[in-house]
Amino acid sequence: MSGIDLHAHTLHSDGTETATELVRQAKEAGLEAVAITDHDNTDGWQEALAAGVELGVDVIPGIEISTRLEGGPSIHLLAYLPDPNYEPLVNVLREIRESRGKRVEKIVENLATVYDITMEDVSKFSKGDAMGRPHIADALIEKGIVKSREEAFAGILHPRGGFTIPQHSPSTTEMVRMVRDAGGVPVFAHPATDRKFRPFVEADIELLVSAGLGGIEVGHRENTPEGKIWLAEMAKKYGVFGTGSSDWHGKGKPNKLGENTTAQEVLAEIKHQGRSL
Ligand code: AMP
Ligand code: ZN
Ligand code: FE
Ligand code: FE
Repeated sequence: MSGIDLHAHTLHSDGTETATELVRQAKEAGLEAVAITDHDNTDGWQEALAAGVELGVDVIPGIEISTRLEGGPSIHLLAYLPDPNYEPLVNVLREIRESRGKRVEKIVENLATVYDITMEDVSKFSKGDAMGRPHIADALIEKGIVKSREEAFAGILHPRGGFTIPQHSPSTTEMVRMVRDAGGVPVFAHPATDRKFRPFVEADIELLVSAGLGGIEVGHRENTPEGKIWLAEMAKKYGVFGTGSSDWHGKGKPNKLGENTTAQEVLAEIKHQGRSL
């Protein structure tokens, strides 16, 4: 088997494994290339790139950026190969992580009115500073309040579960432009999940493409079957590429490395559009 998987998380956000372990498991799964795309930071890049050289796996440095469509739904924006030192990007990522921390504190405060849980219980599950609900879930598991991250997300940590609050995020169109300015390639992550809020429509795709979107993540286990067909049509119509990836989180999610893959021509296009490292 060979394949290219362009979406994976490590301990630097809400995955459960190190960056080296990601690359090791990618090698074991027979992947020729894997992207490290932690939420809102680039802290795992160096380790992943070094492991890639060591193990002969092509490691693509990326980020999954938390953004929001002006006044609307949140969007995860994958950014491949941006300059990690481009100052506006460094600053906005820091702001997102700070607001992640404040959000988690507020959610834990809400939970503490009912459950025996403190910020300390949660912090120990977050290696970096990109905290999120999965780390709260891990603390809830440790305390025997839920059995899995899945159970936590389906109930206590669900947006309508009564405890969580929305994440403050920068505008998606502004981030698409900023990723391009940083020499990166912006890709719309899992746009066709079964959303409780308004689903994405063609006008959203059109808006993002006009801002500079490079591609759409078509192959993702959370995109609905009809959604995948629609996304492939949109990619073709608007002249952007389609990717397929696992969104691996180690033991934090059932997603398996290589369960969705990206064509070699598409990776070549991403490298062509992105800045050369
Ligand atoms: P947050 O960053 O706090 O908004 O939490 C969203 C993150 O939680 C995403 O990265 C998802 O991958 C992860 N997530 C969402 N639903 C689940 C679930 N059912 N089980 C495990 N992780 C999940
Ligand atoms: Zn995640
Ligand atoms: Fe995501
Ligand atoms: Fe992800």
